[in-house]
Amino acid sequence: MVSQSPNRELRRRVFEASTGRGTGSDPDSDTRRVILDLARKRAERARLLGYAHHAAYVAEDGTAATTEAVNEMLGRLAGPAVRNARAEAADLQTALAADEPDAELAPWDWSLYADRVRQQTFAFDESELRPYLELERVITHGVFFAANAIYGLEFAEREDLTGYADGVRVFEVKEADGTALGLFVADYYAREGKRGGAWMHNLVDQSGLLGLPPVVVNNLNITRPAAGEPTLLTWDEVITAFHEFGHALHGLFSQVHYPSLSGTSVPRDFVEYPSQVNEMWAWHPEVLASFARHHSTGERLDAATLDQLRASQAYGEGFATTEYLAAALLDQAWHQIAPEEVPDDVAEVEAFEAAALQRAGVAYPLVPPRYRSTYFNHTFGGGYDAGYYSYIWSEVLDADTVDWFKDEAAENGDGGLNRAAGAAFRAKLLSRGHAQDPLQSYRDLRGRDAVIDPLLKRRGLGE
Ligand SMILES: [Zn+2]
Repeated sequence: MVSQSPNRELRRRVFEASTGRGTGSDPDSDTRRVILDLARKRAERARLLGYAHHAAYVAEDGTAATTEAVNEMLGRLAGPAVRNARAEAADLQTALAADEPDAELAPWDWSLYADRVRQQTFAFDESELRPYLELERVITHGVFFAANAIYGLEFAEREDLTGYADGVRVFEVKEADGTALGLFVADYYAREGKRGGAWMHNLVDQSGLLGLPPVVVNNLNITRPAAGEPTLLTWDEVITAFHEFGHALHGLFSQVHYPSLSGTSVPRDFVEYPSQVNEMWAWHPEVLASFARHHSTGERLDAATLDQLRASQAYGEGFATTEYLAAALLDQAWHQIAPEEVPDDVAEVEAFEAAALQRAGVAYPLVPPRYRSTYFNHTFGGGYDAGYYSYIWSEVLDADTVDWFKDEAAENGDGGLNRAAGAAFRAKLLSRGHAQDPLQSYRDLRGRDAVIDPLLKRRGLGE
């Protein structure tokens, strides 16, 4: 990666080219006129529909319901996030000084020196984990193992059902009593023509109306190893496999009448929540002990390495939260305005952006937004307009639910792999789809609304 190049001048040039995309430095790829037009059209439509602005129109369809709720949540995170990023910057400045005594830390130094500080602090090289993370074992002894322990599910490969592409596998999912629940299709390998990234989708939605059992697919894009070699994963890929399976469970456990309200057909700011919760099981000591074994010796990952993994993963939350929040707050800023407040002149785009970041308390030049407005595909192209807040909104529910599982675990002394807790999560939340207000499902589970403190604690942003 060029952001990791030891050549500082090269890093600067790449950073500037990257953050300058769409800003007019290259007339052929100037997107400023387009984003101003989009912002104005959306504001005009919102007015026609009787809303104060586009963000209010979008929020109403989500569980957030109002932009006040969105602003309040993002606002609570901004101060602590930037404070932590500043503290991280001080360590990076020290690390930079070892190479270039007179240099002042710049945004193009961040990635390289954050990695170096992480390696020095935790004496940990993530690539050493890979021999312990073999795909087949991660799925059967990790993802499926956890689903069995929590929900009692059994998985039987249906070799008679041929996948739609080479390497696509089909599993019959059964309840603890042997009743068939649905089919799970595993499409884990990259191949030519396949879309990038990781996602879940339904081939058949559960519905009482049509009486069909659900068929759900998980997609990853893991590179195929050479013939005869094992498929070894990174830790991120393991987490992604658990994440996508959380969506799969949401689809499989659905118990609603109408297919349009089934499983994952919930608002955008709710849909990532069950999948994020399922990531917790990858970290569970019993689950880890089950899947993290050396592919040739069968040896387990030792406890010290796991502690290092946990500690190193917690590092850098100041940066990660700040760059995310900056992008989410920009997305809100462009969509919380009336048509006449949208700048006319493309030269004003940069000033609009700077003022919005300043107002939101996330103007910290060392950590620019993850996406600047001129190449913010989520908000101007990809269907997350005024909805980029969703990820962290879902994570508030996720962190609060992880605490709930841990409380249940403490009561039962089983470390959270608890069939009773699983049954409650399934019945009150995963099975309900959008057949009722998802936040009501949340209250049914938790006995109250979600609180933000577990998220602040997880991201090291507590007071
Ligand atoms: Zn997801």
